[in-house]
Order: sequence, then structure tokens, then C-alpha cells
Amino acid sequence: MKIAVLPGDGIGPEVTAEAVAVLEAMALPGLQLVEGDVGGAAYKRHGHPLPEATLEMARGADAILFGAVGDPDCDTLERHLRPEQAILGLRKHLGLFANLRPARVFAGLEHLSPLRADIAGGLDMLIVRELTGDVYFGAKGRRVSEAGEHEGWDAMSYSDSEVRRIAHVGFRAAATGGHKLTSVDKANVLETSQLWRDVVIEVAAEYPDVDLEHMYVDNAAMQVVSHPDRFGVVLTGNLFGDILSDLASAAVGSIGLLPSASLGERETAYGTFGLYEPIHGSAPDIAGQGKANPLATILSAAMMLRHSFGLESEATRIENAVAAALADGFMGGDLGGSHGTAAIGEAVRARL
Ligand code: ATP
Ligand code: MG
Repeated sequence: MKIAVLPGDGIGPEVTAEAVAVLEAMALPGLQLVEGDVGGAAYKRHGHPLPEATLEMARGADAILFGAVGDPDCDTLERHLRPEQAILGLRKHLGLFANLRPARVFAGLEHLSPLRADIAGGLDMLIVRELTGDVYFGAKGRRVSEAGEHEGWDAMSYSDSEVRRIAHVGFRAAATGGHKLTSVDKANVLETSQLWRDVVIEVAAEYPDVDLEHMYVDNAAMQVVSHPDRFGVVLTGNLFGDILSDLASAAVGSIGLLPSASLGERETAYGTFGLYEPIHGSAPDIAGQGKANPLATILSAAMMLRHSFGLESEATRIENAVAAALADGFMGGDLGGSHGTAAIGEAVRARL
């Protein structure tokens, strides 16, 4: 089990150090960690935000733990040398096509959510978003209509194989989780959504234990806010997933608690290859001050154990330790508390 740790910039190194310490405290047999340069840190040392050596290390690993990239010193560089290009390059070179974003309101933190206090605690969902297709990557252009009007157009398309592979990710997540899958589309008006629905129904036959429902995206957006407890795993395309993930994250109310996974097609000896990172960025405003909340990165490491190494109970062990540390009041400034990065990491390790 080889993990490439890419801490990156800003608070990236601070938060990944705590997640690495949690993984080490789990004493998992066969765990091997290697560390590489990425982002502005890599540019400063090697002249490129994603050096060939880092890419090779990533390819040779079974999973990647990624901190954050972004460095104000690099703002004036040419576009291809900016730190942010590193994550785009990794996604492309590693074929990461599935983005998993859990959104969960932890007990005792309901007051941080903008949702109504009596329903906020019901929010515990996982959004599985397709990353490589949809309207973002279709043909696009400008034209003049017969009536002489200027038009912009974007083609939205999905192939059945693209839908099938993301559907399997969604069903697998539901099969090991709460057994409930909501496929979100706009099949009442879009041809891509009708294909999406057909393929999802076909794949469902392989997962008889999973409860599948279909929902239109407009309704889904409303329900996230009004009835968050009705969702388990949400399976959706690139565009709808982009919007729903941010909606769900905002509904949690604390950026420092949100992990993510980006999975590729490659199966390793242990599970699915993936890259794991907190939702938040490099937070240059608090970097180097020991104030960053490491929980999003620690929760990302838990997702890694679940999805890339098949270690479901070990993942849950970390998640329970995080919930226990929060319940005991270990929170940083972002959650209205006064604990620092190291104290929060230590509190989680003590509760494993
Ligand atoms: P980037 O360009 O790298 O995405 P950003 O400024 O867009 O950076 P974030 O880095 O996510 O966005 O930061 C947004 C705000 O949230 C900042 O004020 C930052 O200090 C705060 N923040 C982000 N992550 C954390 C964290 N882990 N702990 C505490 N505060 C955080
Ligand atoms: Mg940002």
C-alpha cells in the first residue's frame, strides 16, 4: 500500500502532516509513504508546478494524499506555470473521472449550518460527480442566426460507457454505505439525461441491494435544503454535480471539515486508484500560523482507506475519532473554537 503524499502550498503541509500522523498511528501493515513536491513549492524548487518526478511518483503509488496548491508569489507567472495547473495536470494524466464529495453535519455543529436547526443534523450525503464529460467538454462556439442574432452554444453529450463507469462508482458507494442511491438528472428535457437514466437502470440490475430513485436536478436542489435527510449517495453528471456539490458544502457551513476523493479507472492490488484532498484551498491568509483545521484532510485520508484500500472499518474508525474530537470541543477558529492544527490532530489520534 503505497501512498504518495503531495503537501503543496500554504496550509497544505500543515494539514497533511496531521493526516499522515493519523495514518501512521493506525499502524496499518504494509503502509508505505513517499513525499513529493507540487504547486508553488515545486515551482520554486524545480521550475514547474507538476515536475515529471512528482507525476512518476503519483503513477507508481496506489493513492495520493494531496494538500492544497496556490501561492500568491506565483500570481504573475504564465498560466501553465501557476500552482493550480498541478491539480489539473494530475487529474488529466491520472484519468481521474469520478469526484466524491461527502457533506455531513457533525453532531453539535448544527448551528454552523445555514439550514434550519431542526433539519441540519439530517445532512449526511455523498455526491458522486462525473468529471470528464457533459457540457464542459462538448463542442462550443458562436454563430449568427438567420434572424441576424449573435448566439453562443455549447453541446452537452454523454456516451453510455461514460455513464456506466460513473454509475458503478455510485452503486458501489451505496452498496457499502446506506444502500440508497439518488440519480439526479433532467430527463424531462435533456436527451443526455434520458440516456443517463437508461444506463443507470441497466447498471442497477447488478446491485440488487441498493435502493435506486431518480430525481430531477431542480427538485434535488430544493430537497437538499428542505429535506437533507432523504439523501444517501447522489449520482450525477458533471454540470449538475458541480452545482449540487457546492450547495451541499455550503449547507454544512464549515469549509475546514469537507474532504473529497477523485477516483480513476485503474484498479490496484488493493482497490481503486484515487487522489484525496480537502475541499479548501491553500488559505494563504492563515498559512504557517498553526491555525488551520486539519480535519478535512484527515477525513480525506479516511476516504482513501475506504475507496483505495478497501479498509472500511479503519475508515470508519478515523471518522468516529473525528466526530468524538469535535464532540469534545476540539475546534479551530473556523468553527468558533480556539484549538490549533497540532492540538486537533493529536485529539483525533487520542480517540482512534
Ligand atoms: P485557493 O485559491 O487555494 O482555493 P481560496 O482563498 O480560494 O484559496 P481557501 O484557501 O479555501 O480559498 O480559503 C477560503 C477561506 O477559508 C480563507 O479565509 C481561509 O483562511 C479559510 N480556510 C480554508 N481552509 C481552512 C482550514 N482548513 N482551516 C481554517 N480556515 C480555513
Ligand atoms: Mg478557492
